[in-house]
Amino acid sequence: MPSTSETIQPNTHLSASSPAERGPLLFVVEDDPALREMLAAYLQQQGYRVTTMASAEDFLRRIERSRPDLVVLDVGLPGQDGLQACARLRATGDRLPVVLLTARSEAVDRIVGLEIGADDYLGKPFSARELLARIKAVLRRAPTAPGVPRGDLAPTRMGRYTFMPASRCLQSLDEVRVLSTLEYALLAELVASAGQPVSRERLLSATHGEADAVLPRTIDVAVMRLRKLLEPDPAEPRYIQTVRGRGYMFVPAGSGPTELKA
Ligand code: CA
Repeated sequence: MPSTSETIQPNTHLSASSPAERGPLLFVVEDDPALREMLAAYLQQQGYRVTTMASAEDFLRRIERSRPDLVVLDVGLPGQDGLQACARLRATGDRLPVVLLTARSEAVDRIVGLEIGADDYLGKPFSARELLARIKAVLRRAPTAPGVPRGDLAPTRMGRYTFMPASRCLQSLDEVRVLSTLEYALLAELVASAGQPVSRERLLSATHGEADAVLPRTIDVAVMRLRKLLEPDPAEPRYIQTVRGRGYMFVPAGSGPTELKA
């Protein structure tokens, strides 16, 4: 049972100065302050950068602004629980690696966790070393390197081209244009989330390896190039629309005029 202190949601604690300033960034979403701080301290010792938060709402807000390499997400949270948060993340096409934590009393089995798209699942109580092993395993298999063709996407029509995800190209009746790694990864991420705005931060993490230091502006420039290729009128984008303050959104052919929320 949650103690009363768990219903209070402290502000996020940022712990920036770890031995490895450039280690993978983890989000730890856990409402139990003692466990949260213990995990953060341990993972920092292991060379990770760690940002902690105490609620799913906080996590879902932050995820659009700051991209971790992986999130450790407690299931039993006040407000929206970890399963709902994970399902929401996946519903937007976000493939951020997720390791769920759950108390046995929550009776959520591993299958449910994995069905809603978590990458791994750990029952409490667990040892910090066990969590570390899971994190490492998920990170090892997670990063589909930018530009690797995605089997989960169907060919998608845009303007006079059809985007062919499996062959990384744009195809028209008389032409095949092979996309650069950046263009491909960007377009694939947008198409995977068709009809939903995708933040520049998420586009950056989808298009660049963690070692690359790139500016969000890189995304804007790549979007301009794609618009020149794809849009009947690049000045009035039809397929890759700007959603002010939110990022970019792919609007599929055949969908009506889209209400854009600022
Ligand atoms: Ca909890």
